[in-house]
Amino acid sequence: MNSRSTSTGLVASAAEAMRSQPASPETMETTSWLAGPAAVDLKSVTHTFRSLDRSTVTALSDIGLEVRRTEFVSIIGPSGCGKSTILRLISGLLKPSSGTVSVFGLPVTEPRDDIALVFQRPTLLPWLSVLDNVTFPEKHKTGRVSKETSAGALEILEMVGLQDFLHKRPSELSGGMQQRVAIARALLQDPDILLMDEPFSALDALTRDELSVELLDILIRRPKTVVFVTHSIQEALLLSDRIVVMSPRPGKVTETITVPLPRPRGLNSMLDPLFAEMTGEIRSKVFTRTRH
Ligand code: ADP
Ligand code: MG
Repeated sequence: MNSRSTSTGLVASAAEAMRSQPASPETMETTSWLAGPAAVDLKSVTHTFRSLDRSTVTALSDIGLEVRRTEFVSIIGPSGCGKSTILRLISGLLKPSSGTVSVFGLPVTEPRDDIALVFQRPTLLPWLSVLDNVTFPEKHKTGRVSKETSAGALEILEMVGLQDFLHKRPSELSGGMQQRVAIARALLQDPDILLMDEPFSALDALTRDELSVELLDILIRRPKTVVFVTHSIQEALLLSDRIVVMSPRPGKVTETITVPLPRPRGLNSMLDPLFAEMTGEIRSKVFTRTRH
């Protein structure tokens, strides 16, 4: 498939190439991802949930997290440490108990159109076709689907390898294909920021690898800021510019690791000795934090 062949190939986008280069006057215009406010900025964020019985759970404590434009940041940490809560705060679905959450320099007050979410389960509408699922958000919002949206949907579904399944229902697809539909739906929104909450963790290992490589390829073609939650150190290493390690609840950021692996990346990146070295390093950091 076209998308897969470029992901491990030699083609790197301008955005990819620029990541490894310092800004110079000639590249100032195209390095706008470096200029201006961070895409995502959490400052001293604490979040406490209050239950109906008045008991409280402090999910996050004093979180600081800055994500630059087109940067890919993964969050790793034990269950219940507040990873999904962070994504909900960024997406505007939740307000922090204290601290500030900003997106492109503005405080988040409500869900924004330029942020899309992908969850662990694909949350598709079972009675709609693949194509109709992907265009559903526009249909729901405006009552119709424009020609541009339909054309965009076809292009994106081809990008994720589903061009032959446009008129199938979700139940006729494998888990990996269903998740591709969910990713296509998020991409059709053309968000600046993609929030992905363990998007591949319900899939088998081979499909996970395949989707990771496809995601790398998609981001070369359509650069986006990504905040990605995962339990897989290898997935985080393959995909990320930086990896944030969190402690058990109340979640705090305990480490931020820059991934030095060169881009473009593909499954071959896993053969890089640095990959094994960093897997061990991160494992020891995650493990020490969760052992007690
Ligand atoms: P993670 O995604 O890292 O597994 P979450 O962000 O889902 O963790 O949850 C962090 C903590 O907050 C957990 O202890 C969870 O039980 C609690 N929590 C999450 N959502 C709510 C909620 N709506 N009401 C009460 N507690 C919640
Ligand atoms: Mg979660």
